[in-house]
Amino acid sequence: MGKKELAALFSSNPERYYKVSLFDKMGFMRKKCSKCEKFFWTLDIARDFCPDHENYGFIGKPPTNKRLDYVNAWKETEKFFRANDHEVVRRYPVVCRWREDLYFTIASIVDFQRVVGNQVVFELPANPLVVPQMCLRFNDIENVGLSGRHYTGFCMIGQTCNADAPGGYWKDKCIDLDFGMLTKGLGIKAEDITFVEDVWMGAGAFGYSLEYFARGLELGNAVFTEFEGNENDYRVMPNKIIDMGAGLERFSWITMGTPTSYDCCFGPVVGKLVDMTGTDTDHEVLTKYFESISLKLDDKTGGSGSSNSIRDLKSLIAKEMKISEEQLSAFVAPYEAIYTISDHIRTLVFAISDGALPSNVGGGYNLRVILRRALSILERLGWKNIIRVEDMAELHIDYLRRMYPELEDHREDVKTILQLEASRYSNSRERMNSVAMSLKSSKKTKELNVEDLIRLYESDGVTPDFLMEQGIIQNVPSTFYTKLAELHTSQVSSQASKPIPGLVDLPSTKLLYYQDESIRHFHAKVLKVVEDKYIILDQTAFYPRGGGQEPDTGQIEDIKVVEVTKQADVVVHKIEGGGRIPAKEQTVHGTVNARRRDLITKHHTATHVLNSSSRNALGSWVWQNSAFKEEGYGRLDITHHSALTREEVKKIERMANWVIRENHPVIIKTYDRGDAEQQFSFRIYQGGVVPTSNVRIVNINGWDIEACGGTHVKTTGEIGLVKIVKSERIQDGVVRLEFVAGEAAVSYMQQLDSQLASIAQTLGSSREKVIQSFDKAMQDAEAAKKKLRAMLRVVSGPIAKSISEQAKRLDSGIHLYTIYDEELDDDYHIAIGEKAIELDKHLVYLALLSKGQGIRVIVFAGEAACKKVKASAIAKQVSGKLGGSGGGDNRFGQGGGKSKDRIKEALLLAEEVAR
Ligand SMILES: [Zn+2]
Ligand SMILES: [Zn+2]
Repeated sequence: MGKKELAALFSSNPERYYKVSLFDKMGFMRKKCSKCEKFFWTLDIARDFCPDHENYGFIGKPPTNKRLDYVNAWKETEKFFRANDHEVVRRYPVVCRWREDLYFTIASIVDFQRVVGNQVVFELPANPLVVPQMCLRFNDIENVGLSGRHYTGFCMIGQTCNADAPGGYWKDKCIDLDFGMLTKGLGIKAEDITFVEDVWMGAGAFGYSLEYFARGLELGNAVFTEFEGNENDYRVMPNKIIDMGAGLERFSWITMGTPTSYDCCFGPVVGKLVDMTGTDTDHEVLTKYFESISLKLDDKTGGSGSSNSIRDLKSLIAKEMKISEEQLSAFVAPYEAIYTISDHIRTLVFAISDGALPSNVGGGYNLRVILRRALSILERLGWKNIIRVEDMAELHIDYLRRMYPELEDHREDVKTILQLEASRYSNSRERMNSVAMSLKSSKKTKELNVEDLIRLYESDGVTPDFLMEQGIIQNVPSTFYTKLAELHTSQVSSQASKPIPGLVDLPSTKLLYYQDESIRHFHAKVLKVVEDKYIILDQTAFYPRGGGQEPDTGQIEDIKVVEVTKQADVVVHKIEGGGRIPAKEQTVHGTVNARRRDLITKHHTATHVLNSSSRNALGSWVWQNSAFKEEGYGRLDITHHSALTREEVKKIERMANWVIRENHPVIIKTYDRGDAEQQFSFRIYQGGVVPTSNVRIVNINGWDIEACGGTHVKTTGEIGLVKIVKSERIQDGVVRLEFVAGEAAVSYMQQLDSQLASIAQTLGSSREKVIQSFDKAMQDAEAAKKKLRAMLRVVSGPIAKSISEQAKRLDSGIHLYTIYDEELDDDYHIAIGEKAIELDKHLVYLALLSKGQGIRVIVFAGEAACKKVKASAIAKQVSGKLGGSGGGDNRFGQGGGKSKDRIKEALLLAEEVAR
């Protein structure tokens, strides 16, 4: 049974599923759409079709006397639901840190969904509640800015409750409230409201729903999630969920009746851009055009069933308006551009505020796509000096802070990132230009298709807007952005290691390291031994590999424990042969390698300290990307836009060591997950999602608060010292910090110190004066070289003369001199070679020099000699013989190779060539 059958099933019993008390009270009639056969509820006797086939009747004539801009539409909604006993919850981040399967929050209900095992569970922080949830979606990018109502970022008002928990209610009250919101809150007349029967299917749960419309515009959808399971095997949920989602953009739009929803939802932003760019304004044309677009874009009665693309519609509308298509496009295009960039920058404001970075990987990909799209549009319309993206971000924040005050805290961060990305984009234009040039010159007759364009974007960052600007393509294919987004929307789940058989029936291991982290000796009962290699105990103090922390080692009785892992809730100790393997039921004594555990624990806790230090030193976009902690060192990968400067590394290091010296207590407490999220925010998920309803919160005195299952010191002072030994940008948007802590840091410093001491000794200096001594040694070396060159000039004459005399007289008239030299270097042979061919014009001078693992080849040919054989040819052939390559010109050639065993052959070959 699919969605259609399910809808038919629910609609076959409207009394049970769809009829709510409001319909009786108000006299709503149930009707079947004459065009698409959907069922709907209306007060209008004459009406016989559902709102899907209705023109937007509110543009220019809104069905209410209230005029609510975006923020005020929310204020009105908030007031209404608060007066009706709903708790108003602050929005959740748009970056969905609590779900592994999503990069971004795509609907209000996602806020309250947690995945436990394979199941989605609902966790509501209040009941009932309402939330103004910003959502990001990248599946409709090409309609954004063009259709009048599509966005990459929009606010979904979520009215949510658990029907079976205290404070909860079910469909009668839900629809009463929504109807009240529309009529009293927004002031829409009851006759203008239509409810349409529909179904909703989610992961592991589904239900029926009533969508509500006014004058053809869908405003919201109240979903009654009553069943769990799938459509073929389901039962009523013990905690039924009301999930009403309404578009705040729609609420505002219906009261304002502007040509597009963009005109009223970005506050003053659109108006300012129209002014700044000097865009032509004619409200009548705008209204007519967007009215037609909105109607025709959705027209499902068009016959073929395929939805119309906006470009096709344009020519149709131009005809209807009796103007040329060019005229219409010229008028509409700047508006489309303004709407598009307004949307894109607003989305970026939220995403960056919530810690995301535009990049080439993961969720950051789509952020870079829309930012580059906005920048290309600005460039294409010649606006790049009029509008700066960071100024647009400020306009958005100025307007939205009444509703989302937290944006103010991230104003500078957002500007920093946008500036940086804009300058990266303008730097990349040089490369884009050269790609464009080669496309133009190759002038393939075939048009570039969507796949070609995607390849160009992925490999060279060339956006289709740029190609349009260059006149290489006429327009951006309507599926380009959608296809691109599809390539980068799903998260990849990590793969599990190979399971050990026969553990499913075992009880969960009691984890002594959580009861008391200081336990190093313990007794336990053997539950099972697998393949004489794995021991399972009823309890253990061995920390298993997990969360980037390396496992403990030690002993069980006299057997070595070399690896510890956790499989589901069972801890598995891998042992190495040698001792007597204990029997089942036997009580054994376990010993954890204390020194190893302590060192790992220090590195682990240092990761927390460094993570927060990095965020404080660099910016709020810094999150832990991954981490690894061993005995001897730790590694922390953080999200950051650029490679770190030496100064930044120092700053992080200073801050981390300050936190260590402050000796803050490390407080570990278990919380209900929902409470922890509310109290500490989603920052706790630095190490990823926690798949249990309880979370262990590691709190370094408010400095760093994370959900973490690892082992930690009791106070930061125990870490002693942390030293970053290396920082490296390992991928776009991710920087790796390698560090040492505690005794490992001391050893590292000592090692550096002794290296320094040995350098000083070699220089005949002290450690304090090593830099001066080094500089002096460099100067001395330079001076020695100069002296040598001067000496060479003096002696080169007599040496060259004797070389000419020693050279072999060949029949070809060439005088060949060859030498293999393990002592003297290039400087010497170049000076001598030059002098020798000056003296003897028939001379060919070939020197093979021993250099490290290889051989260097130098060839000179005198003026007469090089008419017979070129220096470059000899260099090439000899180097080839030595397993390398060479080249040069007639007079001078050079090269080299690695095969020292072929020196003789190489010299013989040279003689052959010269003959
Ligand atoms: Zn219909
Ligand atoms: Zn930790």
